[in-house]
Amino acid sequence: MNTNRSQKPGIYIHIPFCRHKCGYCDFYSITALSEQEPFVEALCREIDVYAKRFVSEAAFDTIYLGGGTPSLLSETQLERIFEHLRRGFSFADDCEITIEVNPGTIGFDTLQFYKKLGINRLSIGVQSFHKDELQILERIHSAAEAREVFSAARHAGFDNIGIDLIYALPGQTVEDWRYTLQEAIALRPEHISAYNLTFEEGTPFYNRLKEGKLSRQTEEAEKVFFLETETFLNAAGYHHYEVSNFARNSAVISRHNYKYWTHAPYLGFGPSAHSYWEDQRWANVRSVTRYIDLLGQGERPVAFRERLSEDVRQFEDVFLRLRTYEGIELERFEREYRRPFITIYKEQARRLLNEGLAEIIHDRFRLTSKGMMVCDAILPQFITY
Ligand code: SF4
Repeated sequence: MNTNRSQKPGIYIHIPFCRHKCGYCDFYSITALSEQEPFVEALCREIDVYAKRFVSEAAFDTIYLGGGTPSLLSETQLERIFEHLRRGFSFADDCEITIEVNPGTIGFDTLQFYKKLGINRLSIGVQSFHKDELQILERIHSAAEAREVFSAARHAGFDNIGIDLIYALPGQTVEDWRYTLQEAIALRPEHISAYNLTFEEGTPFYNRLKEGKLSRQTEEAEKVFFLETETFLNAAGYHHYEVSNFARNSAVISRHNYKYWTHAPYLGFGPSAHSYWEDQRWANVRSVTRYIDLLGQGERPVAFRERLSEDVRQFEDVFLRLRTYEGIELERFEREYRRPFITIYKEQARRLLNEGLAEIIHDRFRLTSKGMMVCDAILPQFITY
């Protein structure tokens, strides 16, 4: 069994509802909010099913409510979900409990309620502080609402808040992006995620790009945005710890997301949610209706399941960890896969080291900033099966 037992397991809950479907978004969500109630019922059922199976496992130390827009759930719906979680699983005393919130969907009272429920971390989907960029992204909120929800969260007592931003938008200049970064750090969040806009197949943005109705930034421009982000946030005291993630210090990195990059075990509940446990990965169906139906019939809503072979696991280990600035601990890698990293990946490592895209530091092989900038092109080079 190779699941990383040095880390405690986590729980992800996917809340698949949004008021409006943003044109660039690839996450599974629907706008039929009338389905929320039957969904919550099914979700509680799914939690109970897994609780029976994982009852003797170690205490979980993260819960992450993502989506979709979890902040669309009512207080009673959230209360029920937490009741089932607490009844079914044991949690560490310092469990990190995150909820994604969208500005314009909640106020101070709801934030206070989250606090009472035990939620101790917020991830706010700000994306931009420019009105026209928010319109391009089809976000339903304004920059003012983003500032308001942030300040309300501080007043409600949240001392661990992350802000999500997106760069390389159509027509965006580096100056525009710097303004958004400036406005973000002025709020002093503990954490900032800065994502390069992608055009995923099947999204309206992808179709508009193909039809020539939307333009994307060049690869060169995307590199400039990436480096600008790093330079700007480093200067503001944020530590770049993963390709798209920055934290004010190591205590406020996203403990939950770190599990994904280090093969730690996690259970995912809700439609489209993924789980990883004892070298098995499985994913739930990507349909609220199907999800509700299956759980109603007493079946697990699983669409796909695989057991990771050692080759795949080894590649994923490299692929995921090289996204973090900790990189690969060479001694651990050799212990786990019985051969040195540098022997297995001799060619790739030599090339990356020679080109200044990677470095070996404190017995760790890791990408440099220059390497991180092009990591999507680099990482597939490590496939050996
Ligand atoms: S609010 Fe978030 S999850 Fe919902 S459609 Fe927009 S980007 Fe996607």
